[in-house]
Amino acid sequence: MEQLANFINGKFIQPKSEEYIDVFEPATGQVYSKVPNSSSADINVAFQAANAAFPGWSELTVTDRSQYLHKIAALLESQLDDFADYESRDTGKPVTLAQSVDIPRAIANFRFFAEYGPTFKFDSELNNDQSKNRVVHAPLGVVGCISPWNLPLYLFTWKIAPALMAGNTVLAKPSEITPYTAYKLGEICVDANLPAGVLNIVHGQGITAGDALINHKGVQAISFTGGTATGKIIAQKTAASFKKLSLEMGGKNPAIIFTDCNYNKMLETVVQSSFSNQGQLCLSSSRILIQTEIFEQFKQGFIRKVAKLIVGDPQDNESNLGAVSSKNHFEKVMNYIELAQKEGGKILWGGKAVKLNGRCKKGWFIEPTIIEGLNNASKTNQEEIFGPVVTLIPFDDEEEAIQIANESDYGLSATIWTEDKERATRVSNQVEAGVIWVNCWLVRDLRTPFGGMKQSGMGREGGAEALRFFTEQKNVCTSTV
Ligand code: NAD
Repeated sequence: MEQLANFINGKFIQPKSEEYIDVFEPATGQVYSKVPNSSSADINVAFQAANAAFPGWSELTVTDRSQYLHKIAALLESQLDDFADYESRDTGKPVTLAQSVDIPRAIANFRFFAEYGPTFKFDSELNNDQSKNRVVHAPLGVVGCISPWNLPLYLFTWKIAPALMAGNTVLAKPSEITPYTAYKLGEICVDANLPAGVLNIVHGQGITAGDALINHKGVQAISFTGGTATGKIIAQKTAASFKKLSLEMGGKNPAIIFTDCNYNKMLETVVQSSFSNQGQLCLSSSRILIQTEIFEQFKQGFIRKVAKLIVGDPQDNESNLGAVSSKNHFEKVMNYIELAQKEGGKILWGGKAVKLNGRCKKGWFIEPTIIEGLNNASKTNQEEIFGPVVTLIPFDDEEEAIQIANESDYGLSATIWTEDKERATRVSNQVEAGVIWVNCWLVRDLRTPFGGMKQSGMGREGGAEALRFFTEQKNVCTSTV
């Protein structure tokens, strides 16, 4: 069985404790590799390496750093299919999704920041008749990046690329549930001749390696993506040290469908936004709000389309949905389906585990599930399920739609379906979400700010926001009189 290693100071090394965690293939329910469960001792070694590499890396020109990012992107691209296979095996997602979304986006993250970095004003001047002000965005030093299991390499690189571009050295911890592509990224860094210690990848559980990383005194900032409960712990534990924090957390995203929408485009996209990646996207639509006049039409049309989705082996190109990420997560989602029924919800489609034959007979598969009849205040509609489960909620008018959409602790994203431009503006102005899509979903311009309101997030990622987060601004005022 393959034993993974930490990537520290340009080398693959075993954890000091020699402790390992089983890594499962969700489609088969079988262990296929072991990943280090690193401790504070490993984090300390990685920190020393990152700290020693900082002066050299931060003194390179922006163009030089950009060249390294371009090299990493090109190497990843040359191994796109292999990385897609690794990602599909680790997460249970269809390999077609990893080929078309996860790995291309990881490549795009490096390429985007490689191109965007040189356009960012790391150093600018504001002059007046008394003084010259040099505004500098200086790198922070060693920064920590912590990422989740649903889009492993995609979200890992979304943090690492801007952190490196800004001149920091990085100590990164991927999810212990899906560590494989992060492990392989170490090999890419070696092939790209990235100087040793610039990127260090330390594996392990949140309560061991993650905790040691957030508590390390030398780590200047933590960029975290994961659950809201974990984000709260990180905020509490880092409060006294005033570390810079960026927190991307959970969501309970509404899709708001008005009668005047482009019906066919909406229907096609809402199926995607509900069930792509088995509904395990922080941006998945989980509450589908439909104007009463078209509620029945939508319900029937949606069921017909969802009925055609194939839940199957992620390696099979025909599969629309693969397995959910872990046994624990499978049980969590199934418990929510049971809870929804106890709360009075009616299952319109799905609701059961899927039993496959052959190599997938012990895998963790769940039918795409549609539920109606639940009040928005129900637990099912308030808590993040993060699986292939959506609820249908009718509304009468704009005001009611906005009220239901906002009646949530979360505020990550929302989609609005209407052909009325003024309505789209009114509703998007009032919906409490950091990312709003009108008549589309998951369309991304990487320069735009990304992140959530309320319990979904603190700070923004993307473009200039990410480079600002990973730098400290300093104003140098020189008298000119
Ligand atoms: P999680 O919070 O359990 O874990 C995320 C990461 O944090 C993992 O690497 C984990 O090891 C680490 N971690 C856990 N406990 C820690 C601790 N005490 N100290 C330090 N690190 C710790 O989340 P998950 O289950 O991996 O991911 C699913 C969640 O992520 C969902 O809530 C989803 O909405 C959210 N998510 C948010 C976004 C976004 O951009 N807002 C994107 C993807 C996923």
